[in-house]
This record gives sequence, structure tokens and C-alpha cells, in this order.
Amino acid sequence: MNELGRMIRDSIRHDGPMALDTFMAVALGHSRHGYYMTRDPFGRAGDFITAPEISQMFGELIGLWAAEVWSMLGEPARINLIELGPGRGTLMSDALRAARVSNGFCAAIEVHLVETSPVLRDAQQKTLAQAQAPVRWHTALDDVPEGPCLVIANEFFDALPVRHYMRAKDGWHQRVIGLDDKGELIFGLAPDSETLITADAPEGTLLELSPASQLMMNALAKRIAAGQSAALVIDYGHVETGFGETLQALKNHRPADVLASPGEADLTAHVDFAALSRAAIAAGADVQGPVTQGEFLMRLGIAQRAETLKRRATPEQAQAVDLALARLVTERVGAAPGMGTLFKALAIAPRGGPALPGFVRG
Ligand code: SAH
Repeated sequence: MNELGRMIRDSIRHDGPMALDTFMAVALGHSRHGYYMTRDPFGRAGDFITAPEISQMFGELIGLWAAEVWSMLGEPARINLIELGPGRGTLMSDALRAARVSNGFCAAIEVHLVETSPVLRDAQQKTLAQAQAPVRWHTALDDVPEGPCLVIANEFFDALPVRHYMRAKDGWHQRVIGLDDKGELIFGLAPDSETLITADAPEGTLLELSPASQLMMNALAKRIAAGQSAALVIDYGHVETGFGETLQALKNHRPADVLASPGEADLTAHVDFAALSRAAIAAGADVQGPVTQGEFLMRLGIAQRAETLKRRATPEQAQAVDLALARLVTERVGAAPGMGTLFKALAIAPRGGPALPGFVRG
């Protein structure tokens, strides 16, 4: 057991079993040992690769999306361009470069990055050193000044903690983490059943909820509903709320045990887009989509962008552009899964506005 594992064990000895979302928050965000706090997890050497790290086209199209939406919102003189969980800062850097086509947009924006990890903040600072817009960092969305905003969240919500409930004879019981005879971490069930969950399902069914995502979307959607604002959420997940668990641990691109080495593996869960949409609507905003990432990027013109890049490329570079395009927009690339259909894009907009680029109004 690693040091963070021992700290969690001591806490359980002291305070009793730990809820899964608490465990996940500690494993990812502990100030000294948390997964994101101690490393840069992206790329070949890391545990996973995200869309902006696959190709510059991803961030560029999002930059053009933002400039276009700004224009549709009536070109507010000042607008906060907020990114939640910006990773290495690659998406924002590509977005700002592409957005230079709109002088008005560039003059109006102030960039706000919401990031908890000091390691990734450093990486973002380096990537954005030449950015032609003021950039500020915050640890929470609440710290970002109010006012018109455009919010980007790519692979952010999947990192927010989830809770599990298991259906037993007498109702739903929260899944908690306790200790076995040898003092190792194991999953168990809370003795008392939940009174607030009314869903019906056969015994043994698992229900995964993310209260942290709901709270985050509530705060986000309130800002959007205030007007002249919009958000774009891209992540892997499902369109309908369902039963079953999707939590997974990933270490060196391979599945790992969730409890085995807290802080050393990435923990993520599929995003429940239906639940996020309900939270946004309840907070007074409107949603558009979700549409698949493939559809979204194709509508924004990723195929044309790839052609433009290839015109100036060596044959090897052209091949790399084609491969990146396939990974971003299709379901499979050879034997490997692509991001095209598993990933979805959801827009949050003020009520009654026009369809945003990449979306059709439902
Ligand atoms: N958007 C990036 C990175 C995705 S990984 C990309 O597409 O490459 C998740 C990011 O969210 C990391 O930057 C991580 O440090 C950050 N993060 C995770 N939980 C967070 C939280 N509660 N508040 C702010 N940032 C968080």
C-alpha cells in the first residue's frame, strides 16, 4: 500500500467507511499525493491522450467556435473565456491562435483557467507564455469574475467524483470503502438504505451518480442563464441515464484496480449527459445536443481543416493528419477505438437563443 493508501486506511480506522466520491476526490486531488497534483498524465509516456493532444485541429476549431458564438451573442465588449481543467493548455493555445481571425473577439476576451493541479498550472503557463490575451488562473469556477462568458470543458466532467449505490432487498445502499481483515481497502455497502432514491431495479443493480458534476453544472448554467454566455462540454459518456457502473482506473494506458494504489492511477467515469442537461435546465439555461464528437467536428469543418494542413505537409505529416482526423471523428481506427461516437458535445446556452455552431436546435 502506498502512502496515500495508508492515510486513507487511517482515516477509515478513525472515522469509519469512506464514500466512493470522497475516495475519488482524495485519490485525484490530495494536495501532496493526488493523481493530478503530482504529474502530467498526458501523452505517450502518461496514462492517456486527450483530443487536443492528438491534433491541433481540435483546439483550433473550438477557438473558431468561440469567436463565432461571441459574434452571435451580440459581440459583448468584454467576455471571459473560461476553461475548466485545461490540462497542458494545448487546447487554449490552439484556440487562441485560430481565433486571431477575429480581431474583435481577441480584443474582448480575458482568459480564465480553472485548474487545481500546480503541476498542470506550470505546464499551462509555459504553453500560454506567448498568448495574446490576459490569462488568469483560479482553483474554482466560483473565483472567476461574473459577466458574459464562454466556457470550455474538455474531459473535465469525467474526472469529477462519482458515488455508487447498490440495490438490495430493502432498497438502495451506498457503496463505501472499508478495511478487510488484513487492513486492505475493500468495497462494502452502508448498512442503512437511502430514502431519497426512488428508482426501481432488480437486486444487485448498481447506480452511479455524480453529485459533484451536478453542483458544477448548476453553477455553470447559472452563469450562462445570466445572458450573453455559452458553454461547450465535450467528454466521453452516455446520452441516457442508465444503471451500471462506468468508473475505471487507468495506469500506463491499461486498466488498473480502483483501490490498489490511490493517487497513482487516473480515475474517471462516463459522463451522464442526460443528468448534466437536467441540471443545466433546472438552473435556468437551455441545452443543445448532445451530438457525437464526430458530428460536431465535421459540422465545424474539420475535414476541410485537415485538407488545408495536408497541402503544406510532407507525406508523413499528411498521414499523421489523416490518422488524427480518423481518431477524432470515427468510431474505430483499425483495431483501436476512436473518439468519434463515444465522445459527445453538449452546449449550454441562454433560453430561447439560436442554434450554436455544430448543434441543431431540438
Ligand atoms: N482538458 C484537458 C485535460 C483533461 S484532464 C485536455 O483535454 O487535455 C482533467 C483536467 O481537469 C486536468 O487539468 C485536471 O488537473 C483538472 N481537474 C480535475 N479535477 C478538477 C477540479 N475539481 N477543479 C479544477 N480542475 C480539475
